[in-house]
Amino acid sequence: MTGRPEFLFPLFGALEGLDGIGPKTAKNLAALDVETPRDLLFLLPQSGIDRRLRRSVRDVLPPHVATVEVEIGNHIPPRQRGRPYRVIVQDAEQEFQLVFFHARGEYLASLLPSGQRRIVSGRVEVRDSIYQMAHPDLVLKPDEVDTLPEFEPVYPLTAGITQKVLQRAIASSLSRAPDVAEWIDAQQLARAGWPTWREALQSAHAPAGTADLSTETPARQRLAYDEFLAHQLTLALARARRRRSAGAQTRGDGSRVQPVLAALPYKPTTAQTRAIAEISADMAAEHKMNRLLQGDVGSGKTLVALVALLTAVEAGGQGALMAPTEILARQHMEGLAPLAAEAGVTLELLTGRDKGSERQRKLAALADGSIKILVGTHALFQRDVQFADLRLAIIDEQHRFGVSQRMALGEKGAHADILVMTATPIPRSLALSQYGDMDVSLLDEKPPGRQPVTTSLASTERLDEIVARLQQAIDEGRQAYWVCPLVEESETVALTAAQSRFEQLRAVLGADRVGLVHGQLAPADKDAAMARFVAGDTRVLVATTVIEVGVNVPDATIMVIEGAESFGLAQLHQLRGRVGRGSGASTCLLLYEPPLGEVAERRLKLMRDSDDGFRISEEDLAIRGAGDVIGTAQSGLPRFRIADLERQADLMAIAQSDARKLLHDDPGLTSARGKAARVLLWLMEQDKAIRLIHVG
Ligand code: ADP
Ligand code: MG
Repeated sequence: MTGRPEFLFPLFGALEGLDGIGPKTAKNLAALDVETPRDLLFLLPQSGIDRRLRRSVRDVLPPHVATVEVEIGNHIPPRQRGRPYRVIVQDAEQEFQLVFFHARGEYLASLLPSGQRRIVSGRVEVRDSIYQMAHPDLVLKPDEVDTLPEFEPVYPLTAGITQKVLQRAIASSLSRAPDVAEWIDAQQLARAGWPTWREALQSAHAPAGTADLSTETPARQRLAYDEFLAHQLTLALARARRRRSAGAQTRGDGSRVQPVLAALPYKPTTAQTRAIAEISADMAAEHKMNRLLQGDVGSGKTLVALVALLTAVEAGGQGALMAPTEILARQHMEGLAPLAAEAGVTLELLTGRDKGSERQRKLAALADGSIKILVGTHALFQRDVQFADLRLAIIDEQHRFGVSQRMALGEKGAHADILVMTATPIPRSLALSQYGDMDVSLLDEKPPGRQPVTTSLASTERLDEIVARLQQAIDEGRQAYWVCPLVEESETVALTAAQSRFEQLRAVLGADRVGLVHGQLAPADKDAAMARFVAGDTRVLVATTVIEVGVNVPDATIMVIEGAESFGLAQLHQLRGRVGRGSGASTCLLLYEPPLGEVAERRLKLMRDSDDGFRISEEDLAIRGAGDVIGTAQSGLPRFRIADLERQADLMAIAQSDARKLLHDDPGLTSARGKAARVLLWLMEQDKAIRLIHVG
């Protein structure tokens, strides 16, 4: 099956083919992200209107929709222009008025002939104790009562589209939905009591009451699961393909790792030991490793990375560690070098700043294998960087990249094992969808003896007091970061703010005691500013957010974050992780601009009360929603039409194991269920994944 199966064509044709849709409506629907009949199937009603026939408008509590049979009385045309046209009607108990603005009399006379009976449905209001129904949604003859929908689905609307148009077009799409073979595991289907795909669609579009709009209904659950399953199949296919591509079998003999572990002033945590074992097993196996090492700030990822790199060296190969920025690459270098020295292994640093003969020398040493471990930035992946025998590529802080970028990167690394490190504590549901193609090692335990960071909140109105306290702390020999507000729209505005805070702090604390770093500094100046702070020459470092995740200055024990409400919690947690690294007690002060909104207050209080990155991210997700936690655009997160990533994390987990199992049993997707799963992928527009299916 190389192309989309023909029986799905009707769902992927032009919208204009559907009842009641012309080119203009089709264009308007694009605003709802609806471009094909298939998209309409997945556009589910968000609410509904109860249109059950009632005896009287008195049976509902206005303002509310009521459907009643009435006898039509007098027509009262407007006496002045701009006044409404009224029709007096009488239901079983109550006389009321149908009200029409800008109405044509003849039309209303034929629609509502005096003396006859009609069923009218619309929103009832009471004005000056008179019951009114303005512009009824429905007017039916009594013998048409059977056509009355008891509960009418209400779809999300966009300009130029009415409910009627949508309802009709959706009904027309539904009639095109074919019967499909089941792609969900039979046991799962039975256990959950889910309907077939078609039945699920039919029933999701025909709610019988408000309860049917819940994400918990079997129909909606199934449709959500379908989305998750398609997504997880794509990830599982990518994973399977990578695992098929032979990796080198990298087995260490302990000759480099043992001396390092012996020289450590501490023992690895249980979590570190477990991660190291998982990684070594993966590296030794035939398949290519594609593993995520996830651990909160300070959980000790560096040691795990080092052991993996040394294992590559023990096996006679090379390792590379890539950091997202120059500063971080340098810090890794500085952190790893003394440990690597214990093992007698040389590290080298390669960044975009290496030019000319220096760069040539490094590249040559890399190509002849004399450099064993290379630390660097993106420069590592440039075309002219050739390794003699690259066994392991570690990518640090990769949460900045999405699934597709990572896939591209993996292809570059030929058969090297890949280890991605992230300090972003991602909630499980997001981890599953973002990293579902990877195996995960979790550092869920911090090394003992950490000093917790005391966090407090303060309004910028108390700035003077805060600066005075800062002065005192500096006089006691402490160092502080001062992070300026995040300004999404404009780097220039952010810079101006940082600049003026810098000037002000200098004026109070002394010109030589305050430094400034920001994104627009030349790299050399940035390094110089960082270096002065690391050396303790400057005592306060004013920064836009360039003080990166991972920067290590043990004497810095104060973190002031201005405009804290503008940051994501994960980001705040990362920033806070910059302090509390040394032996001194550390503090983090979250400064906010009053007045603080309710949500913002909840978020900042959560930060104050918890030091657990995972808990923070879970709650942040609950407070804000998935896209915002990682930043939608860069998150690489798929957009689901029906599924709700936050509330249906359990389904995502089931989908992941189901997808992996299906591919394990049927790598080429050739069984009956495998073929059905292909249809699902086509239906979910995962065309890319289809190309990953194993042939042969
Ligand atoms: P991460 O990169 O995960 O944020 P690091 O690897 O930088 O964390 O480790 C943070 C600090 O903890 C470092 O100073 C490191 O030397 C120390 N450390 C790492 N593992 C342990 C351990 N098992 N016991 C005590 N200290 C440790
Ligand atoms: Mg680190």
